[in-house]
Amino acid sequence: MALRELKVCLLGDTGVGKSSIVWRFVEDSFDPNINPTIGASFMTKTVQYQNELHKFLIWDTAGQERDSFQTLKNWVKELRQHGPPNIVVAIAGNKCDLIDAREVLEKDAKDYADSIHAIFVETSAKNAININEVFIEISRRIPVVEAAGGTSGKGFKLGRQASESRRTCC
Ligand code: GDP
Repeated sequence: MALRELKVCLLGDTGVGKSSIVWRFVEDSFDPNINPTIGASFMTKTVQYQNELHKFLIWDTAGQERDSFQTLKNWVKELRQHGPPNIVVAIAGNKCDLIDAREVLEKDAKDYADSIHAIFVETSAKNAININEVFIEISRRIPVVEAAGGTSGKGFKLGRQASESRRTCC
């Protein structure tokens, strides 16, 4: 079974739950007293997607305290200007378990995500809601790789998109 490495970088303000999302995905656990990320941390997890193994290489970054929805938009601008062309963007609206503390309407977030062709999922790292689904959606959006030329298995070309990008961000 082919193994593909998918590079994921989590971006967002401090406290939105980036590290908790990674912990839930990789360890299937939640630590309410999780230590703040200093600099960046790195974890991996390999999952099967269709007839491939997808190894997620996940960089969790330290953010700053600001307005999380505005910060998201700033990151998307940065990625559009300086990121690779075929980057997959996934937006996790985390802490959806805190129903009474909602700050961003689901419709506003969804409309924004649609406008930039991003994945949008409301998640809860605490209650394990939709965490795996974010990564499954990323797997789904990653361009298909087809073996090219002969049976050596060493050459690859992309199926649906012109150039290869396995970088993603959420
Ligand atoms: P980061 O700074 O973005 O990496 O955020 P953390 O993962 O450190 O989480 C910040 C705080 O939010 C911690 O106290 C977490 O326990 C809490 N938290 C993270 N995810 C959730 C969630 O889905 N629901 C709730 N209620 N709290 C969460």
